[in-house]
Amino acid sequence: MKKVLLTLVILFATIGISAGTWEDNLKKGAATTKQNYLNVPFAKPEQWKTPYTTPGNWPVFETRGPIDRSPKNSASKVLVMGTGDPTPNPFRYGPAMAVIVNDYPYFVDCGEGWWRALAHSTLTQDAIDLTKVFALPNLKYMFLTHLHEDHTVGLPSFINNPYKFGPGADKKVFGPEGVDEMISHINAAWRLDRHEVAQGSLGYPPVGSTAVGVPVWPETTVKGRKIFEDDNVLVEAFPSKHGFLEHTYAYRFTAKSDGRVFAFGGDGTYSPGLAAAAKNADILFVEGITRKNVKYATWGGDTEEEKVRVIGAYHMFPERLKQVYDESRVKNIVMVHVQNYNSPDNFDRLGVLNEMIDEGINNILLAQDGDLY
Ligand SMILES: [Zn+2]
Ligand SMILES: [Zn+2]
Repeated sequence: MKKVLLTLVILFATIGISAGTWEDNLKKGAATTKQNYLNVPFAKPEQWKTPYTTPGNWPVFETRGPIDRSPKNSASKVLVMGTGDPTPNPFRYGPAMAVIVNDYPYFVDCGEGWWRALAHSTLTQDAIDLTKVFALPNLKYMFLTHLHEDHTVGLPSFINNPYKFGPGADKKVFGPEGVDEMISHINAAWRLDRHEVAQGSLGYPPVGSTAVGVPVWPETTVKGRKIFEDDNVLVEAFPSKHGFLEHTYAYRFTAKSDGRVFAFGGDGTYSPGLAAAAKNADILFVEGITRKNVKYATWGGDTEEEKVRVIGAYHMFPERLKQVYDESRVKNIVMVHVQNYNSPDNFDRLGVLNEMIDEGINNILLAQDGDLY
């Protein structure tokens, strides 16, 4: 016993724990825990200019948990799994949504943390039985609005992670030109993993371990093009406009169960294709960015003028969304992928939402991860 104590004393002296007493360290730990518990950010306002410390990342400003905003008894719902964007907010998953019709899911975009977002929604949303909806053989169809990293980085998880828990369905991923190449590279990159699960101790049959990419290019025009249909849904693709990407799409889902129509804008500014995709739809799920506070953006140039030009080519300022709203006569808008750049001293979590309302857009809501519509 004496020997053990002596060893411990020497060990602690060596690694420097002797700098404070145990009691001091315990007090310090308690204070840190309290700060975490109360969601008080450690980063100071003057440190806001990095992607990690921008005020939008501060969890202290989250105002609510996930809720059910869907009509009662409708057989079609949209689950917002992730509302994030490229900013590394540790409290929002990357862009990810699911249209659910007759308890079967069709996924739209596959951002960072897709598999965890699925679990988060299942644990926090009890309006429908998501364990049933997300049964492994149901994880099959994915629709990508565009191939930016923040909307696709979850694909290796989508394709490979469910398989670790048993055979499922081979995946089909619809998206712009290049999606076939992207998916075949992912299949190749995780070949060893897949092989080990199939041939190793688990010995699963290979079904459910791979995916194919299906380009919806090139015949998609502003009039829309049917790209998928089954007993539950009809899916049409429309060209959208997002920075300098040549092929990006908005999707229009018609649920055959109850006729609800959902449009997904992905990223981008106004385009005739987006307005057509959302024509008289029940809900348009779309991005939004602050115009008032764009000067606080952590990218897009040095001056406000430059930021407006660069960021405006990529994203949806309030006056552009108003144009989509007026032209499409969509009934409701739900904002995701919100870029709410703000003064670090005066952060307003609802800032972008209020800018959209001030622009004259009625019936607009701000989504949070796990919400149901
Ligand atoms: Zn994005
Ligand atoms: Zn993008």
